[in-house]
Amino acid sequence: MVSPERVAFELGLKPALRLYAEPSDAEQLQRSLLAAGHAVEVQPLSSGKRLVYVARTARDALRLRALESTILPGGPSRPAARNVLEAHRALGLALGYPSCCVEAFVGRVQRDVRRARDGSLAHEDFVAIEAAASNSRAHHAWLNPVPLDGGSTVVSFYPCALDCEAALALARELFAAFRSRHPGEAVVRHAALSTPLFLARDGTRRPPGGTPADVIRLDRWTCW
Ligand SMILES: [Zn+2]
Repeated sequence: MVSPERVAFELGLKPALRLYAEPSDAEQLQRSLLAAGHAVEVQPLSSGKRLVYVARTARDALRLRALESTILPGGPSRPAARNVLEAHRALGLALGYPSCCVEAFVGRVQRDVRRARDGSLAHEDFVAIEAAASNSRAHHAWLNPVPLDGGSTVVSFYPCALDCEAALALARELFAAFRSRHPGEAVVRHAALSTPLFLARDGTRRPPGGTPADVIRLDRWTCW
């Protein structure tokens, strides 16, 4: 399945990419990106996975890697010091994410990305979607960051709202480009992003059903 974000990068609609890869896939991915003429930097993580930064110039790829070097996922828990928040902000903006969504993310880092609104601990997806949903009048499928099939999303950041105007403008552009290149896959991806789901506190996703108390109901996706 082709990633809409990669298509967007290749068409010049996105300044850079930040991808996760399994160690066994990282080398092949790096080779294919280099063969396509992109600049690539690979960062091993403590989990064994790799972060792959893709940019148009070697300097930009290196900058992305350097920006995240002090805030890598899986590192020791860090106090939300000013330089930590600034690194998250700079990385998000360098990846082309809307500033409102970057600021919402930085706010969660400041409070702890695993701290739900009631103060209890929860999966980062739950915390981010809880905040975004409370800020939304509608849930737009193209801004769904947690599709039920676990497949690729149109945007790779948590939107500040599930109808954030800036994120939606970007998603529309990305999805139109994706659809023009891969019409069949666009239909499949649109269906996956529109599939109703319940998101549990531990981050698990499942089809709606029953009346569970502690889930976020994402069962009314719209698209306009
Ligand atoms: Zn936003």
